[in-house]
Amino acid sequence: MKNGSKPKLASYKKILEKKADEVRRSMSAQKAAQVVSRLDIPSDEGDLSQQSHEEWIFLNRNTIDAKLLREIADALHRIDIGTYGVCMECEEEISQKRLDAVPWAKYCVACQEEIARRIDAGEYVDDYQEAGR
Ligand SMILES: [Zn+2]
Repeated sequence: MKNGSKPKLASYKKILEKKADEVRRSMSAQKAAQVVSRLDIPSDEGDLSQQSHEEWIFLNRNTIDAKLLREIADALHRIDIGTYGVCMECEEEISQKRLDAVPWAKYCVACQEEIARRIDAGEYVDDYQEAGR
């Protein structure tokens, strides 16, 4: 592993902590909305299907948020142990441009594309894919 300059580690840490905060807040806001909508007991079949559709969106979104939170936690951990900004696949440094766009990135662009290709091909499970946004 390279041990070159560590650009703006502290500022990435701040960005990641802020993002984690936002995600957590949005998750609890959604949870509260969900509880309120549960009090609205559907009166007929139409409402019921609408309800389950909303539930699906909620669950789906929450899964993405939970995954993102985990990735942010991982990135913060990598800052602590000194491997942040290094590709976990090829151990090359991840470009600063990429880290600015995706501060929790754990792979360089080339490896990320390769992994995405393998997921598409069914060779990898989706867990390797990093959360979007
Ligand atoms: Zn790589």
